[in-house]
Amino acid sequence: MSQTYDFAVIGAGMAGASLAAELSPHANVLLAEAEEQPGFHATGRSAAFWEECYGGPEVVPLTLASGPYLRENGMLSPRGALYIGRTEDEPSVEAFMRRFAESGVSIELLGRAGLEQRVPGIRPAWRHAISEPACADIDVAKLHHHCLARARAGGAELRCRARLESAERDGDGWRLSFGRAGEARARTLVNAAGAWADPAAEIAGVKPLGIQPLRRTVAQLRTAPAPPVDLPLVLDISGAFYFKPEHGKLWLSPHDETPSPACDAAPEELDVALAVDRFEQVVDWRIEAVEHKWAGLRSFAADRLPVYGFDARAPGFFWFAGQGGFGIQTAPAAARLGAQLLLDLRRDALTERLDASLYAPARFTGGP
Ligand SMILES: Cc1cc2nc3c(=O)[nH]c(=O)nc-3n(C[C@H](O)[C@H](O)[C@H](O)COP(=O)(O)OP(=O)(O)OC[C@H]3O[C@@H](n4cnc5c(N)ncnc54)[C@H](O)[C@@H]3O)c2cc1C
Repeated sequence: MSQTYDFAVIGAGMAGASLAAELSPHANVLLAEAEEQPGFHATGRSAAFWEECYGGPEVVPLTLASGPYLRENGMLSPRGALYIGRTEDEPSVEAFMRRFAESGVSIELLGRAGLEQRVPGIRPAWRHAISEPACADIDVAKLHHHCLARARAGGAELRCRARLESAERDGDGWRLSFGRAGEARARTLVNAAGAWADPAAEIAGVKPLGIQPLRRTVAQLRTAPAPPVDLPLVLDISGAFYFKPEHGKLWLSPHDETPSPACDAAPEELDVALAVDRFEQVVDWRIEAVEHKWAGLRSFAADRLPVYGFDARAPGFFWFAGQGGFGIQTAPAAARLGAQLLLDLRRDALTERLDASLYAPARFTGGP
């Protein structure tokens, strides 16, 4: 006879792990992960920053709410960020300032002199910058382990090599099969399957929401000079690249968003070449080697906001998906909100400023 859980959370990346950490003190939780190790997909491949504006004004509340938790638990180290633009990008710079004016982020305009000071060797074409001093590096592995440890301490069972293969309605819950990893029953099925969010819904007979995985590439470069340790995260205001220092090396992305099926994503040579070409137009540094490159999938709903909530069309089925490019930096507040929705708990300091309706699946499915 298979064990019965209150919640079966599918996927033990940052989404599933953080949610299991929040649920397990209150309920009996199974955290099922298809891979040998949790964190193998998007979570293990991120660029590891907490950047207030990333994802747009409607993601800002999740990011800002998560900041104190991340800081108090020693997950953040100061980095700072600069969005940079050329003369022709001035309208984009102004539009960016207007877009975030009421959002609660701390941003200020910086001229060419400030830019030269922060980014040595910056080419003359780059005239404008928006400085975001609060931006920080996140210790992603530490946060993920912290969530898994909290989940375990609360009594959650982490089952690896446990790919959800079938999910059938059974009375008021679900009968789940994980192939060789056995079976389980759960009252509620939580879809935290990242790029596999739509396929996981289909396994449970639930109509997908159209969550699209987009490939994002990062290359680690050895440059001369090496990037200064206090170099900020530098992002193109038009979204064609970002780069930041990492232990004396440079992490560079062409900011690619290539639609992909859910898979173990790999970098394409062309994307790395594009990144290098764009970088060479920003600073006069020499690239000595591309030491390492990787890609991961960032998964988005059609409106690029995350999806947290019960599916009105499928009793006992909860979406915790579509974390896009901000699933690490928003994890503490998102997981607390998710647990409060699942357990019908009151909001607390971490979540009281969030408008859960922005993230509800009802925007796609109708219903409450
Ligand atoms: C290159 C890159 C840079 C990024 N940079 C940042 C950043 O700087 N800051 C930030 O906040 N975010 C960043 N992100 C986004 C962030 O990594 C994601 O939003 C986050 O990791 C999503 O977590 P997840 O748990 O939803 O997905 P994943 O980590 O992909 O986890 C989903 C898990 O579900 C499992 N699974 C799937 N199907 C099944 C099944 N049927 N049964 C059991 N298990 C299943 C998978 O094996 C996987 O482990 C970046 C992403 C990429 C790719």
